[in-house]
Amino acid sequence: MYSTTARLPYGQKVQFSGQNVSTQADNSSALYLVATPIGNLGDISSRALDVLQSVNVVAAEDTRHSRHLLQHFAINTRLIAYHEHNEEQQTPVLLKMLAEGESIALVSDAGTPLVSDPGYRLVSAALERGVRVIPIPGACAAIAALSASGLPTDRFVFEGFLPAKQGARVRHLDSLKDEQRTLVFYESCHRIVLSLKDMVSVFGSERQAVLARELTKTFETIRKYSLGELADWVEQDSNQQKGEIVLLVEGAETSNEGDAMLLAKLLPALVKELPVKQAAKIASQVTGVNKNKLYKQALKLKSNSK
Ligand code: SAM
Repeated sequence: MYSTTARLPYGQKVQFSGQNVSTQADNSSALYLVATPIGNLGDISSRALDVLQSVNVVAAEDTRHSRHLLQHFAINTRLIAYHEHNEEQQTPVLLKMLAEGESIALVSDAGTPLVSDPGYRLVSAALERGVRVIPIPGACAAIAALSASGLPTDRFVFEGFLPAKQGARVRHLDSLKDEQRTLVFYESCHRIVLSLKDMVSVFGSERQAVLARELTKTFETIRKYSLGELADWVEQDSNQQKGEIVLLVEGAETSNEGDAMLLAKLLPALVKELPVKQAAKIASQVTGVNKNKLYKQALKLKSNSK
């Protein structure tokens, strides 16, 4: 038998008692997934503060880092570590606390937990055991960057971090080269130049791309160029190789087989009769394929025919 007091959001307290069951959560407990700021502390929500204040425990990726955040808001809730290296051992510990009626808030170092951050294992196990899982939405670097990118937002693919090794990175990029949705990547400042170069070699230099760096912070930078221009700019300006970065790349052009076949016949025929620029313009109008891309193809065709 146990008897405990569960602390619930908004200061409400519930007293309960019963058998200690390790597989089924007490129905007053909950696992809150609390988004925290990605830079500017003003971005924390009042609901997030209420939850962080009211739960029994805050499970944090880095307890020192999160202690500073809690202290800033005068919150003294107990912190325990939950990160990629202790996820396996800590998951049963947290599940037991939930089963005993405690409420837990999971936070990561910044932004939305589970987005390129630990927590999947815990959330999955909590749901299996009937624990209430409650998201407290807020900042997420990928979504903030996408919204300010000027790239299509109706459909997008979140790719997280690319492989650190070049061979694996290029293979992964290659698997994405026909993806038509906007691509969203997280990238380390140490690899940004190399990754941009690999992207140019796989996707070509013409697609639009956006660097979203240090979002919500003092040196926030959001720049949109062609992929080739962006790669050159970042390589030449070492300031762009600092801080936290989201990289977005325009998806591949819509191509259907009919258009591709038409283009294969149309462009060579136009190049024979017209100047390269005019041939590319007409082929672009007919097929909807990017004019600059067709101009380059037309130039090649012209020089091959000489
Ligand atoms: N869970 C976080 C979220 O919701 O955005 C992401 C965590 S992931 C471990 C950290 C990466 O997110 C960074 O390497 C960077 O790519 C991106 N990121 C986080 N904060 C950022 C910021 N203020 N500006 C740009 N990118 C940021």
